[in-house]
Amino acid sequence: MIDYKTDADGIATLTWNVADRPMNVLNAASIAAFDAAVRRAVEDPGVKGVIVASSRPEFVAGGDLDLIRGIRNAQESFEASGPVSATLRALERSGKPFVAAINGTALGGGLEICLACHRRIVADDPKIQLGLPEVTLGLLPAAGGTQRLPRMIGIKNALPYLIEGRKVAPAAALAAGIVDEVVPAAQLLQRARSWLLAEGAQAAVKPWDMKGFRFPGGTPQTPGPTQLFFGVGGGLLAKTQGLYPAPEAILACIYDGCQVDIDTGLKIEQRQFARLATSMATKNMIRTLFYAMGEANRLADRPKEVPVRRYKRIAVLGAGMMGAGLAYVAAQAGLDVVLLDVDQAAAEKGKAYGAKLMDAQVAKGRLDPARRETRLARVHPTTDYAQLAGCELVIEAVFEDRAVKAEVTRRAEAAMDADAILASNTSTLPITGLAEISLRPEQFVGLHFFSPVEKMPLLEVIRGARTSEATIAQALDFAKAIRKTPIVVNDCPSFYANRAFAMFPYEAMTMLAEGVNPALIENAGRLAGMPMPPLALIDEVSAELLHKAMKQARADQGARYREQPQDRVLAAMVEKTGRLGRKVGQGFYDYPAQGARRLWPGLAELFPVADQQPTVDEVRERLMYAQSLEAARCVAEGIVSPRDADVGSILGWGFPAVLGGALGQIDTVGAAAFVQACDRLARLHGPRFEVPEALRRMAAEGRRYHAA
Ligand code: NAD
Repeated sequence: MIDYKTDADGIATLTWNVADRPMNVLNAASIAAFDAAVRRAVEDPGVKGVIVASSRPEFVAGGDLDLIRGIRNAQESFEASGPVSATLRALERSGKPFVAAINGTALGGGLEICLACHRRIVADDPKIQLGLPEVTLGLLPAAGGTQRLPRMIGIKNALPYLIEGRKVAPAAALAAGIVDEVVPAAQLLQRARSWLLAEGAQAAVKPWDMKGFRFPGGTPQTPGPTQLFFGVGGGLLAKTQGLYPAPEAILACIYDGCQVDIDTGLKIEQRQFARLATSMATKNMIRTLFYAMGEANRLADRPKEVPVRRYKRIAVLGAGMMGAGLAYVAAQAGLDVVLLDVDQAAAEKGKAYGAKLMDAQVAKGRLDPARRETRLARVHPTTDYAQLAGCELVIEAVFEDRAVKAEVTRRAEAAMDADAILASNTSTLPITGLAEISLRPEQFVGLHFFSPVEKMPLLEVIRGARTSEATIAQALDFAKAIRKTPIVVNDCPSFYANRAFAMFPYEAMTMLAEGVNPALIENAGRLAGMPMPPLALIDEVSAELLHKAMKQARADQGARYREQPQDRVLAAMVEKTGRLGRKVGQGFYDYPAQGARRLWPGLAELFPVADQQPTVDEVRERLMYAQSLEAARCVAEGIVSPRDADVGSILGWGFPAVLGGALGQIDTVGAAAFVQACDRLARLHGPRFEVPEALRRMAAEGRRYHAA
């Protein structure tokens, strides 16, 4: 795992090569091997200096999450994270100079190895990423990162790396003082050697191990940093509502650890890490954000026997908001895109959308102008269906109207290649119904993107009743080609994400109609960790749209339609007051030209506030459990798998990752407790809180959605 070599000049080279893993990672075996190699170099009197290098494309990608996932208690946490921290401290204090020759990406524990070395030299390659992203998975850098980085570059400068997980390329890392030199890749090892021979001996002691060390920018007790902690702590709470323990634990490591000597600081770091590694919050984040999302991106469930489809040319029908975004995303991924609309001007306008997005990137220096041209040239606006010949996939994104979609389907199929797939981006119309008009319903699939397409990472692949497995497999290949995270969803009205998410605004409107104070509803939504409070969210989407969907459902279902509590609220907002939402400057909120939105005072007249108000926890529970319950129904009905339900909830509508997703929330509170709470809510508020039989059974048998 660590190749060990010495040369005639007394330079030892320790080269990372964890051959049994897809990348160099820190786990029990590689840490032990590295420790042995460090010891050997330090104890060998012939060795004057040491290079730490890698023979893989990356330097070291970070800690092995398989190791961290298995931690059950503090004891196991210390056993998992303690050894590498100790090795790095020994390396740092060995008296011999160590230089990190960083040939590729060094993240998390990988960068922490570098920080412990006496010098960091990195190859000049803008694709290399350097950073400590542990926080994004609910963890903290536990191999000295929270202690060394502030001592190197100051607390203020270190914060974005530690509490936001910022990653930077070599040039920015040099400017920030995280590395000492950026050199051409071919000279990396040579430069490391010459530094060791020329300057190594004088540089083998870290500043914080010398007498009179002055903490750059001051310790936490000095006025600047003290102020900083007030501001950062407050800002963090505003952002996370105190739901995410990792950034707080990191702040504690810095605040406490930077007032004491580094050895004590490292102990503090180990304890805070144990708190995180054993927490439900962190386990939830690792399970969903790393493992589940990784499986979805790898297309783990894709039928293997279907040959992988390589996409070169696709078509998008309808160059409106969704079509334009889709064409841009596909062109960005290197595909040629025929962009078709009813007239040439509309098609051109769709192409211009991508041009504008790229202009902004060019202006910021993030995109090379030549690249912009190449990408733009891949989009071919047209009105001519004959252009669909030669396209492997055609995605329909025209008006949400069955008749328009039917017409487009007929014309598209007449022009498409025999083996091409036709997909609909409908958000509400079941795929099975849309496929009825199709001459080859096995090759008809739903590809439900979210708006704005270029920002939203999720793609729901909708399986209609007659969609073939080969089509599903190739739709998944397309998701991968355009770098979206796919989940597979069986056809049903609203599919999965919109169906479960809708319960959040619906429950909010129901409470409003009951006389719950709107400010209480909004604050509870925010405190629950949702990205936007529910009434503000309806204003963004527009009450008009929801009202239209409600009327459509009423028309479709006729006498079967069951009046919903939110219907009255939507009708009042749309028909009585015309407060349609943000787009018209008024909805549940007023939107002044200047300043922040504020709740519309007139709401109290429409929906009088009751004398008796629920507690914020009761409101939060209703808002959050309603979503999880609908997700559980989708799973019980075989619409979506538990894994995809959780991934979809976090990526599709911003369900709090700390809960692991909509089903993760049920596992977190425990299925039995969840069912009990829903039974109570059903008694108090109606049958929409009734739990599906499968969930009740699961609770009775003590099972979970995801292995503990
Ligand atoms: P849009 O109104 O912005 O765009 C529709 C486009 O289709 C227009 O440019 C229109 O000229 C074109 N069009 C209409 N009839 C056509 C025809 N016969 N042939 C070719 N082009 C035609 O609508 P949108 O918001 O982009 O939505 C498109 C589809 O995507 C709808 O099915 C919608 O439900 C779905 N969708 C929308 C969102 C969203 O947030 N807007 C999200 C997911 C899915």
